[in-house]
Amino acid sequence: MLAILRLGHRIGRDKRVTTHVALTARAFGADKIFLSSKDAGLVRSVRSVVARFGGDFEIEDGVDWKKLVRAWQGTVVHLTMYGLPIGEAVPNIPKGGVLVVVGAEKVPPEIYEMADFNVAVGNQPHSEVAAVAVFLDRLLGGEGVRRVVKGRLTIIPSERGKTVVDSGEYASSRR
Ligand code: SAM
Repeated sequence: MLAILRLGHRIGRDKRVTTHVALTARAFGADKIFLSSKDAGLVRSVRSVVARFGGDFEIEDGVDWKKLVRAWQGTVVHLTMYGLPIGEAVPNIPKGGVLVVVGAEKVPPEIYEMADFNVAVGNQPHSEVAAVAVFLDRLLGGEGVRRVVKGRLTIIPSERGKTVVDSGEYASSRR
């Protein structure tokens, strides 16, 4: 299991960014995202993408994050600009059983001690979406985005325009 834990999601305010963290996690090869807050609307919109584009990515909200981190059977990686450089850390991180923790605003200070690795994607402040994308891509050596996910909607890569196959009926749209 390769999962993301999103800490400190504020309902309403962080909806767009947390949705992007979830979709990025899915697209870059994670199996699941846990949210430390409850947000039924966000859960619905992520599940609707999974229903249309396929795969078995899961989302669970309202998670007791300390309990999850303590009980995690594997490696806990906290992404933070204060951590060790990603290039040094990744070779020491096993690929299976990884829980990747990202914050919204300031993260609870305990996470720095609870994590097995505090990893920086560069030591400059940027975004949890970028941090998740780069970390997963480095951890999986690009396999997350290379893999083919089977779903009702399949995008056929095109040099120009958009080609989408809707299984059952062929719905191709070109521009
Ligand atoms: N001001 C916050 C702090 O001091 O923790 C940073 C908030 S940042 C917008 C949200 C999350 O993005 C952070 O909790 C961290 O997980 C991730 N992040 C931002 N920059 C990062 C970096 N350079 N390396 C790794 N993760 C980063």
